[in-house]
Amino acid sequence: MPVNPGERRADLHCHSIYSDGTCTPVELIDVAASLGHWGLSITDHDTTEAYELVKEYAASRGIVLIPGVELSTTFQGEAIHVLGYSFDSRDEGLKEFCRIHRQRREVRNEMMREKLVARGLTVSIEEIKALSPNAITYGRPHIALALVQRGYVPDVATAFHLYLASGKCCYVEGEKWTTQQAIEAVRSAGGVAVLAHPHLIKTKSLIEPLLTLPFDGIEAFYAHMGAIENHRWKEIAERHGMFSTGGSDFHGKIKPEGRFGSSWAPESTLDRLYYVLSKVSRSH
Ligand code: AMP
Ligand code: ZN
Ligand code: FE
Ligand code: FE
Repeated sequence: MPVNPGERRADLHCHSIYSDGTCTPVELIDVAASLGHWGLSITDHDTTEAYELVKEYAASRGIVLIPGVELSTTFQGEAIHVLGYSFDSRDEGLKEFCRIHRQRREVRNEMMREKLVARGLTVSIEEIKALSPNAITYGRPHIALALVQRGYVPDVATAFHLYLASGKCCYVEGEKWTTQQAIEAVRSAGGVAVLAHPHLIKTKSLIEPLLTLPFDGIEAFYAHMGAIENHRWKEIAERHGMFSTGGSDFHGKIKPEGRFGSSWAPESTLDRLYYVLSKVSRSH
């Protein structure tokens, strides 16, 4: 949908080559600029690196870049993603929080790789990393790419469907931070914490207890979610005194559904995130 005159639009959920996306941060900023967007947030999994590296480039293109991150957590046995925004990107606590989780991911990736090898799907950690040499965070999509490269599966989606999706034979849950710990890590860095893609939560009875945690917002606008569903989550956010965010969860070629800019945040949320960021920046 084209941007209306005077509208400030920002896609607040996308991934770069620093995690499991296939575009560089510069390319993401260029796409946002070409679409006439006001800003964006790059929300790589468990790493905050992109922001510091390209914030000046974003400014040179007239794009407001909001620090972002997506943290993998667990809440009562369910995998929950927490989006963090407008934090101090130099905060050592949040960096350490991410670093510890990336180490746990290494253990989990190796366990999943061993399960694949036991089924005759030989892949090495070296080839997984060589296929995505810029990644700071490695996860299932990188393993899936190696399976495609080896010719074991035709595409990433099939690798998930047959082996890597939750509950499939080579899936490993891995050790994770709790949702509460992730919210605290983001808030301690001066940022705000948002419940990502709530419609993907499998155990619906967990939603209300989850929303008693100190989240600031809910991702009510997501990729190609329909208008009724958007409205439902926006109301749930309002009922809990939380704001709504939105984004495409764009990953580039690795996950073809969800074009960049297919979803975006309400303008009132952008004001809030910009205000929080300006306070964080002034404290330095
Ligand atoms: P991980 O962080 O290692 O648990 O991997 C999660 C990531 O895998 C998500 O953020 C998506 O990018 C990707 N993913 C999850 N499910 C699928 C799927 N069915 N097909 C393709 N990619 C998926
Ligand atoms: Zn991802
Ligand atoms: Fe996610
Ligand atoms: Fe995501």
